Amino acid sequence: MIERVVKEIADEMRQRPDRGEVASYIPELARVDPGAFGLAVIDAEGNVAAAGDADVPFSIQSISKVFTLTLALGKAGDRLWRRVGREPSGSAFNSIVQLEHERGIPRNPFINAGAIAVTDLILSGHQPREALGEILRFMQFLSDDANITIDRAVAASEQRTGFRNAALANYMKSFGVLENPVEFTLGVYFHHCAIAMTCKQLAMAGRFLAHSGINPATGALVVHPDRAKRINAVMLTCGHYDGSGEFAYRVGLPGKSGVGGGILAIAPGKASIAVWSPGLDAAGNSHLGRVALEALTKRLGWSIFGV
Ligand code: GLU
Repeated sequence: MIERVVKEIADEMRQRPDRGEVASYIPELARVDPGAFGLAVIDAEGNVAAAGDADVPFSIQSISKVFTLTLALGKAGDRLWRRVGREPSGSAFNSIVQLEHERGIPRNPFINAGAIAVTDLILSGHQPREALGEILRFMQFLSDDANITIDRAVAASEQRTGFRNAALANYMKSFGVLENPVEFTLGVYFHHCAIAMTCKQLAMAGRFLAHSGINPATGALVVHPDRAKRINAVMLTCGHYDGSGEFAYRVGLPGKSGVGGGILAIAPGKASIAVWSPGLDAAGNSHLGRVALEALTKRLGWSIFGV
């Protein structure tokens, strides 16, 4: 049943003319084929249903923020929430205005400022290379795939042009929110955003969030069930920037988008889902990714709010 629905949706998405706009503010991302579409669903038993370009690696960008949040909570526990809030922002992913009002404390860990603060916490006490290695190894461990790598061209492209993120980081530094040199924190941030993964790998990596913190493939406890619940809550309320309300309304699952066009969505107790379509809507979220997830949750009755 899941397999049939996944194939149906991938076929439907291939035909759609409305594909959104591929992100171009990171020049390297503008080279991606807007016609690409991939979808992968891994259920509780570990069955993989995949279609389209589900084996093609793409830039996970802000989806990495789910995993850096998980790592940072592991290091700092609830002390993390002194450095970053957990309320939806209602403003753009790279907004600086809110940061001024809130004296350098970012609204949540998924807007850029919040994710930069989380990266800074992971970096403290380490060299940038070690911190980045830790993040990459965590992704490889969760996906059970040692071949996951960082796309250096994408990282370099953002490093050359990420003036707004540099502004956010410097602004937070002025409030004492960042502990490390700004260029180190930004370097690690740009590189973890540039991790390249396929839909299948990403759906694998998200499984612990769908199953109360346990990776059902190995039975290993990745995080305590209480923590998995809370990460899902932040994904639901903040995972799509100022499009988070619309995503909850239409899809009804915790999810996190990235400007590479990917979305990781979690159907608690049921499945981990990854979708990729590079064209974005005005809020910087994958347009067809959201449309596909809306169709999927509707056909399978998977919205956390009921049918
Ligand atoms: N690396 C991107 C940035 O910082 C991530 C944004 C996103 O994926 O939404 O602008």
